[in-house]
Amino acid sequence: MAQLTEHDIKEIVAKVIGAMQSSPEAKKTWDATQYGGRKFIGVYEDMKSAIDAANNGYKAVRAMSVEERERIITEIRKLTREEAHIMAEMGVAETGMGKVEHKRLKHLLVADKTPGTEDIVSTAKTGDSGLTLIEMAPFGVVGAITPSTNPSETVICNSIGMIAAGNGVVFNPHPNAIATSNYAVDLVNRACRAAGGPEVLVCSTGKPTMESAAIMQSHPLIKLLVCTGGPGVVKAVLSSGKKAIGAGAGNPPVIVDDTADIMKAAKDIIDGCTFDNNLPCIAEKEVFAFDNIADRLIDGMKRAGAYQITAAQADELAKIVLVEKTKKDGTKTKIVNRDCVGRDADVILAKIGVNVGKEIRCIICETDFMHDFVQEELMMPILPIVRVSNIDEAIDLACKAEAGRRHTAHMHSKNIDNLSRFARAVETTIFVKNAPSYAGIGFGGEGHTTFTIAGPTGEGITSARSFTRQRRCVMADSFRII
Ligand code: NAD
Repeated sequence: MAQLTEHDIKEIVAKVIGAMQSSPEAKKTWDATQYGGRKFIGVYEDMKSAIDAANNGYKAVRAMSVEERERIITEIRKLTREEAHIMAEMGVAETGMGKVEHKRLKHLLVADKTPGTEDIVSTAKTGDSGLTLIEMAPFGVVGAITPSTNPSETVICNSIGMIAAGNGVVFNPHPNAIATSNYAVDLVNRACRAAGGPEVLVCSTGKPTMESAAIMQSHPLIKLLVCTGGPGVVKAVLSSGKKAIGAGAGNPPVIVDDTADIMKAAKDIIDGCTFDNNLPCIAEKEVFAFDNIADRLIDGMKRAGAYQITAAQADELAKIVLVEKTKKDGTKTKIVNRDCVGRDADVILAKIGVNVGKEIRCIICETDFMHDFVQEELMMPILPIVRVSNIDEAIDLACKAEAGRRHTAHMHSKNIDNLSRFARAVETTIFVKNAPSYAGIGFGGEGHTTFTIAGPTGEGITSARSFTRQRRCVMADSFRII
């Protein structure tokens, strides 16, 4: 019998772990209502009970001082830091997607850089007619729909902002990440109790479905909907007739021109594209490279851990990572194969018979603009590279690939005219220059973080103030001191 090499053994172990993670039996072991024998606080049988409990949470928050709210948030930050590793491991094991260490870092980012009550600022206007005060008030109970790609990160980030704003919150988590999301709901409630707050502050259900989301959307106690997810669910909440914040899909293009520091650009792009196996909606999804630097860029990417496949292999892989689906009207569309989303590059490559080790973190290929890898949001470490001859072509194709989602775009260049032209043309919520994509959410870049980037509805990099409504109080002719 032939002897197994170290590489063969690693591959077998990776395949067994992969099969365990994606098998229905493995998923069954995740309990949406408890962890290690500890029953989750704030997780209810059905959506209506969860909304009633969240409404009680809202009444409790309303009765609190800002200082008391901030104490709860400080405790949420502390527990998030302490339990980041547990949630990271749970997220990967339950969904089969992403990387534990990167998910851990995302939790730390949420703990450290999600704004709290300091984000809520009142303003005053004085003049001949007296004083007018403008305060940012809570909406009431917020209904939040969260994704499978950053499940606990989004629950905690949303909770901090929504509590800081004085709201109650009920979550309808993604069905593929219920246990991880509900762990985060429980963490927020444990933090609340530890800080002397109410027994239950934020709520969820043990069986989130499209139906429970529909109940949430039409319930009279829900005053604001916040949806973080793909186009289908964002469209659903925006059609609900309620005030809604929609944080939808992206397909972030990257332009690299011939003034960029090419080796740095190559490494930055691979670092950003492979972070949590490309699950973040802001991550680099396709590259438009000037023809005269493309070879060097590809070489730099390979040095940074990328593996280049041929055009024929890219076509073969496209048939695996995208599957055809028949829509209700009978027309056909392509959707991503959930068994490939957020998977390691070597696991994806093995599907076309290419065996590499874990040191390969990204699959790159040269394609034309119309290739599915460019057009579809894959959320996996596959990066197509399209050659362009000049900045006009680069901007034109990059904008077409972003396709009006107004989400995120990136550029590597030292030419300020090129940088400004692309930023203006693409009109995205986030535009990152000369850095990995995650700099755009405060990881190695300035500014606060969020896991709910609301392009379609315009709140942008959401924070506590996004979950408030303006109220005005007028005192005519008095209360000026000058
Ligand atoms: P998804 O769209 O599959 O699901 C999101 C949630 O919506 C889930 O709870 C799902 O069950 C529910 N849902 C789906 N369709 C619905 C409908 N019609 N009515 C009610 N509920 C519905 O999300 P996912 O795959 O976990 O997340 C990935 C997508 O989300 C990507 O497109 C990504 O770009 C996007 N995303 C955006 C942001 C952002 O901040 N803009 C952040 C994370 C993810």
